[in-house]
Amino acid sequence: MTAMLEVKDLSVAYGKITAVKGINFTVEEGQVVTLIGTNGAGKTTTLRTISGLLRPSKGEISFLGKRIDKAPAHSIVTMGLAHSPEGRRIFPRQSVEENLMLGAFARRDRADIQADLKEAYDLFPILAERRKQPAGTFSGGEQQMLAMGRAMMSRPKLLMLDEPSMGLSPIMMKKIMTTVRTLQKRGTTILLVEQNARAALKLASHGYVLEVGKIVLDGPGSELLVSDDVKKAYLGED
Ligand code: ATP
Repeated sequence: MTAMLEVKDLSVAYGKITAVKGINFTVEEGQVVTLIGTNGAGKTTTLRTISGLLRPSKGEISFLGKRIDKAPAHSIVTMGLAHSPEGRRIFPRQSVEENLMLGAFARRDRADIQADLKEAYDLFPILAERRKQPAGTFSGGEQQMLAMGRAMMSRPKLLMLDEPSMGLSPIMMKKIMTTVRTLQKRGTTILLVEQNARAALKLASHGYVLEVGKIVLDGPGSELLVSDDVKKAYLGED
């Protein structure tokens, strides 16, 4: 069986600085896979390269058996790969509903778009209550829900989430992580980038640990959670 997403020997550079140095990983259909690591490890760079926003200096990326490392970003979305970026990047002056509809920009199937809008509102009732309000009035947690809802509006097979828990209260973080699990149960495969290693590993079928551009460790989430190296470096335990 081929993996849904396959990243092979991927390197990405910003000028002379190589931020990602020959990494390999796969995401199988139905999994939640997480990339964890400290600031600057190369997690965001990896997601932006998969999305087609950056180009690899070396290596291959395949999605559903097709090479995507030279494909334009919009056609990668159309193939079923969505990205909820770090910092959310919502449009503050646009309404909640306008922000959600931007996620469906590449689609023509109007009836299904309406059904997915309803699903986003079912998942996050606060978005329905405030559908006409400018998104800039939302709290950080609400903006995160909106960013996830917007990414879901492209009806992705694979959803990439970049630090969804960033800056959120523990309660809001829990809600976001529960939603990740719900999305998985509804059939979406998820690639989750997190600095909050504990929360991410609890959800993950498989985790990869990135350190300065390289994968230094990987394994099932449940195993990484109890690994001494991970505990020391990422979970604040000794
Ligand atoms: P964070 O959680 O802080 O986003 P990260 O693991 O996602 O960390 P990246 O943002 O991918 O890490 O950064 C990896 C490396 O690439 C860092 O050393 C960073 O300084 C560098 N880098 C990121 N963006 C650029 C850029 N636009 N130009 C030059 N260097 C960059």
